[in-house]
Amino acid sequence: MSGDGEKGETRFQGVGVSPGIARGVVQVMRDELEEIIRDKIDPSQIGAEIARFEAALVQTRMQILEMQQRIAEAIGTKDAGIFDAHLLVVEDRTLIDEVLRKLETDLVKVEAVFEEVARRYAETLSKIDDPYLRERALDIQDVMRRVVRNLQGKAPKTMPLPGEAHILVAHNLTPSDTAAMDRHRVLGIATDLGSRTSHTAIMARSLGIPAVVGLHDVTEKLESGCMALLDGFTGKVIINPSPETLAYYGEVEIRQFKVSKELAELREQPSTTRDGQHVVLSANIELPDDIVSVATNGAEGIGLYRTEFLYLDRDSLPGEDEQQETYRRVAETVRPHPLIIRTFDLGGDKIAGGIDVSDELNPFLGWRAIRFCLEHEEIFKPQLRAILRASTVGNVKIMFPMISGVAEMRRALAILDECKEELRAAGIPFNPNLQTGAMIEIPSAAICSDALAPSVNFFSIGTNDLIQYAIAVDRVNERIAHLYEPTHPAVLRLINMVGEAARKNKIWFGVCGEMAGDIELTPLLLGLGVDELSVSPTLVPRVKSALRSLALNECRQLVQKAMRLETPGEILELCSQLARERYGALLS
Ligand code: PEP
Ligand code: MG
Repeated sequence: MSGDGEKGETRFQGVGVSPGIARGVVQVMRDELEEIIRDKIDPSQIGAEIARFEAALVQTRMQILEMQQRIAEAIGTKDAGIFDAHLLVVEDRTLIDEVLRKLETDLVKVEAVFEEVARRYAETLSKIDDPYLRERALDIQDVMRRVVRNLQGKAPKTMPLPGEAHILVAHNLTPSDTAAMDRHRVLGIATDLGSRTSHTAIMARSLGIPAVVGLHDVTEKLESGCMALLDGFTGKVIINPSPETLAYYGEVEIRQFKVSKELAELREQPSTTRDGQHVVLSANIELPDDIVSVATNGAEGIGLYRTEFLYLDRDSLPGEDEQQETYRRVAETVRPHPLIIRTFDLGGDKIAGGIDVSDELNPFLGWRAIRFCLEHEEIFKPQLRAILRASTVGNVKIMFPMISGVAEMRRALAILDECKEELRAAGIPFNPNLQTGAMIEIPSAAICSDALAPSVNFFSIGTNDLIQYAIAVDRVNERIAHLYEPTHPAVLRLINMVGEAARKNKIWFGVCGEMAGDIELTPLLLGLGVDELSVSPTLVPRVKSALRSLALNECRQLVQKAMRLETPGEILELCSQLARERYGALLS
């Protein structure tokens, strides 16, 4: 962090994981209240508790007024009016009197009494079918948190902003938080934790929302309501940007706008190298709504549909019919291009409501993806049947995540066959020639890819996981993010092995991890012989431009050299050099 005082510009450096510039008011999303312990008090302490309570109410009132003024300065008086409702809560006589009465009868610390009374009020209001009263319930909850924190002597915490567009700042956002957030109001995302391949970063990229992660303790240092500029390219968050900074970023945005315009012109162009090699360039999607950006960015279909995101912002699992409808809609929209549906990859950092995956010490090595599905046929089979039923429309393929070896693959395919039989028996149509694929994201699968290849039609390499398992670097741990090196010689050898197995068995192979969208590494992946690259929709134009600037031959030569290099840095430099020569402007 650097800066020159409270009102001056202050900079925080993190990792830019989703490109773009955002400017706006900050909203800090904080964790829920810590548990409030119902400490008993002696009747002689009642007076002191009342005094504490009154002081906390005054303090809260001042904080709200201060916030109101700050917001009014930043975005206008009208929107700051929401805080009037919060002020009414701290002045609500009925609420305060009830707290005082209960303090005498319950004889516990006032924070516990206040929390209980306020929560009950909020619950009662939230049940009434009236939007105004439901909003009042939210006001009460927000103010209650602030009063309790003041009673506990903690720093002022969250104050929700009006329904304005904002930069969302949080300690950590889970994929379910991201799936549930109001995406039209979030201009940018900044988090203390996170890394390039965390699913929150992946989603932000898909949504085209600029994001910076790995900011360590930014949530402790920022207050809701301050003005910020977020640079998702270089990973900066700048509070109270100076006129010079704003002018500088104005120019960056103009340059970016020009680059995007040029890239947009490539939309209808094929993803073919200079020497005529066509490589399928498809997109990864998380939510069905993402399909819009698949076509607008010029992708050739969907190479990875992360279906588990269907579950993440709800409490119950969608049934077979609902899934079938969704898959069919997506397939219809992208046809004649392919839609590769990946079966649920629940677990790891993707925990869904309604699914009981208890806390695990190593969730990424735990009960995840295909392991979970094979033990939960009541979840797996409806999904397989839904995919099969949707396969009559368009060009649907299916792939299985986290395959570790042949036995698991056979088991998954056997269940798929059972589902086909069930549909046949019921006279429900499906495409009997539906292509099946294995995700290669566990080193054992890469090493055994020659044995796996005869069972499937394609391989899709999930480098996000493959890298974390190959070099034992947790993909979501920002503390070791610098050790997460896609150009590690071991990763190169594993991908090469998969490519050789695919060619020998005459099946195609692609890469759908984040590595596929990193244009510095496009020469490496082309040289390794990929048939397909599947990337975040917003990255498609950049990758297409990179691909069209390269010749397959020079990429093959690069890989021959890279295979003899011994360190990730040397391999990266080799790729970087060719990338800079061919499309330096795209990289800057
Ligand atoms: C991967 O692991 O590279 C992948 C594409 O799957 P996910 O990121 O969803 O784990
Ligand atoms: Mg994966």
